[in-house]
Amino acid sequence: LIALEGVEKWYGAFHALKNIDLTVRKGEKIVLCGPSGSGKSTLIRCINHLEEIQKGRITVEGTQLTSSASAIDTVRREVGMVFQNFNLFPHKTILENCTLAPMRVKGLSKADAETTARKYLERVRIQDQAEKYPAQLSGGQQQRAAIARALCMEPKAMLFDEPTSALDPEMVKEVLDTMIGLARDGMTMICVTHEMGFARQVADRVVFMASGEIIEEAPPEEFFRKPQNQRTRTFLGEIL
Ligand code: ATP
Ligand code: MG
Repeated sequence: LIALEGVEKWYGAFHALKNIDLTVRKGEKIVLCGPSGSGKSTLIRCINHLEEIQKGRITVEGTQLTSSASAIDTVRREVGMVFQNFNLFPHKTILENCTLAPMRVKGLSKADAETTARKYLERVRIQDQAEKYPAQLSGGQQQRAAIARALCMEPKAMLFDEPTSALDPEMVKEVLDTMIGLARDGMTMICVTHEMGFARQVADRVVFMASGEIIEEAPPEEFFRKPQNQRTRTFLGEIL
């Protein structure tokens, strides 16, 4: 479903992604981890073309991601993204946040977009918050609203960039439970997270990055039991 081949990314002179090869099959769940500054956010932002790559190839469902507007539109329609800081539109209600893109991008009528929105708000269990503004919700509710907003586009895959790291501890579980539910329903997911319990529970593969490179990848059981690389061992020693 998603393939990165020989991807290279520079920020000016800084080499942020080095020869990244990663294939994500339909229904697969990938947990991406690694030290701060290792390029995790950069990697997933490149998949959505929030960042441009300088070399290599990214394809989503057979569409090669180029800088053409139509390729970018196609990919953004197929792939939903959830950020650390929710990124909801503050001056729109939760319902409006959820209906905006389906109406603009997919041309849904307001009524149809609202029906879809209410369905996904119910799925993340905040249907009773639909008429409120983001600031009136708790962090956990805002993040679940952001997940619902992404789901309203009915994407084929979801990218998560540390979706729980801005949350108070008591709200982490409700967001992780929502993500676990999505995983159980078969969603293709790439999650940047340091929640290793989540990784053990849902990941098909854990991918470890350091200094812009993929250092190692393995099913969680193997990854945690016998990490091959010294940098992986050091990292796991620090976070577990
Ligand atoms: P964290 O765990 O802290 O979120 P990360 O693995 O997500 O880290 P990235 O945000 O992908 O790391 O950043 C990788 C490297 O690229 C870092 O060294 C960072 O300073 C650099 N970088 C990221 N964005 C930019 C930018 N817009 N311009 C220049 N350098 C950048
Ligand atoms: Mg990051």
